[in-house]
Amino acid sequence: MDLRRSIILHPGKDKALRNRHHWIFSGAVRSLPEAEEGSIVPVLSAAGDLLGHAYFNRKCSILGRMVNFDGRPPLESLAENIGRALELRRAFFDGRTNAFRLVNAEGDGIPGLIVDRYADVLVLQISTLGMERLKPFVVETIVRLASPRTVHERSNVSSRREEGLPASEGALFGPAVESVEVLEDGLRFEVDVVRSQKTGLYLDQREMRRLVRALAPGRRVLNAFSYTGGFTVHALAGGAASAVSVDSSPAAVALARKNVGLNGLAADDSAFIAADVFEYVRGNDLPFDLVILDPPAFAKKKGEVVAACRAYKDLNRIVLGKAPPGALVLTFSCSAFVDEGLFRQVVFQAAGEARRRVRILHKHRQAFDHPLNIFHPESEYLKGFLLHVD
Ligand code: SAH
Repeated sequence: MDLRRSIILHPGKDKALRNRHHWIFSGAVRSLPEAEEGSIVPVLSAAGDLLGHAYFNRKCSILGRMVNFDGRPPLESLAENIGRALELRRAFFDGRTNAFRLVNAEGDGIPGLIVDRYADVLVLQISTLGMERLKPFVVETIVRLASPRTVHERSNVSSRREEGLPASEGALFGPAVESVEVLEDGLRFEVDVVRSQKTGLYLDQREMRRLVRALAPGRRVLNAFSYTGGFTVHALAGGAASAVSVDSSPAAVALARKNVGLNGLAADDSAFIAADVFEYVRGNDLPFDLVILDPPAFAKKKGEVVAACRAYKDLNRIVLGKAPPGALVLTFSCSAFVDEGLFRQVVFQAAGEARRRVRILHKHRQAFDHPLNIFHPESEYLKGFLLHVD
C-alpha cells in the first residue's frame, strides 16, 4: 500500500468506518494523500489496516466519503451499488407509478449522488467534488442499466459551494427535454425538469399522497404548501368534496391547476391560491376536514433550529386552533436538524397553546424509494404526523 496515496486516520478514529458509516471528518485524519482533490484513495487505520476507499476534498469539514469498505476496485463497487439501487426499485414500482428515486445517495451507499426517474427521463443531482469527477462513469452506468431517453442534470444544491463547485445543469445524454408527463398511482402529473424545485417532484411524500387519497371521500381539503398539486390531485381523485391549494410560487400554483385538469378532475380557479401560507391561515377561517401542512425546511442549518421550531409551532397552533371538531391535520417537517422527537414536542406545544385535544393516528418518514442506510442516520430528514383534532 502506498502510504503517500492514502488517507490515514488517527488512532481510535476508525470505528465509524468499520461500522460502514460513509463520512470521514477532518478531525479524524492524521495524514492526507498526495493526490488530486476529488480523487478516490485508500483509507487506512492508524495501524495500517485497509478500511476501504473514499473520495476526498480537503476544503470540506466532511473531508472524505467512503465509496466502498473493502479492497475491491472502487468503480466496480460503485457500479454494483447503482445496480442494487435500481433492483430495489424494480421490486416496488409497477407501470402505475413511473416517477421515483432510483439512487438515494448514502441511503444506497453512493454518497453525493441522487438520480430520480421521471418516466423515461432521469434527473441526476451531484453534491460533491468526488462524485462530480465520477460523473462520466455514473452516466455511462445508469444509461447501460436503466436505458433512459434522456439524462438531465440538476446539480444546483447549495452544498456544492463548500466543495468549490459551480452549479451544473442541462442534458448529459439524449435529447434535451423541458418537461415530461409521469404517473403516480395512475394519476398524471406534468413535471418541469428544467425550472422545478428539487429535481421535479417531491417524491418523498408518495405514501402520504396515497393516504390522503384514501382519507379524502367527502372531506374538504386544504393543501398548504401545495407546490405542483400532488396532494390536491390525489385528494380530488379520492373523492374530496373540495380541495384548496396554497403556495407562494405562482408557477407551482399554475402547474397544480394544470395537473388537476390533466386528470379530468374539477376545481374552481379560486381554489388555487398563490399566497404566503402564514398569512392565509391567519387571515381566513379554516373550514376544512383535512389539512396538509408540508412546508419547506425551515431550518437549513443547525443555527436555525430555534427559529424554525417557532415557525412550525405558529403554523400548527393556528391551524389546530381553527380546525373544526373531528378534523385531520397531516403535518410535516423536512428539516434534518429538527428530529422526530423535537418536531413532536413542537406539535405538542402547538396543540396545548391552541387548547385542543389532539391524537396522533399515524407517523411518516420519507417514502420507500428514499431508503435510509442503517449505518448512516444523518440521511433522515422528513417526518410527519397525522393528527386528529377533537
Ligand atoms: N407538498 C408538496 C411539496 C411542498 S414543498 C408536494 O407533495 O408536492 C414546499 C412548497 O412550499 C414549495 O412549493 C414552496 O414554493 C412553498 N413555500 C415556501 N414558503 C412558503 C410560504 N411562506 N407560503 C406558501 N408557500 C411557501
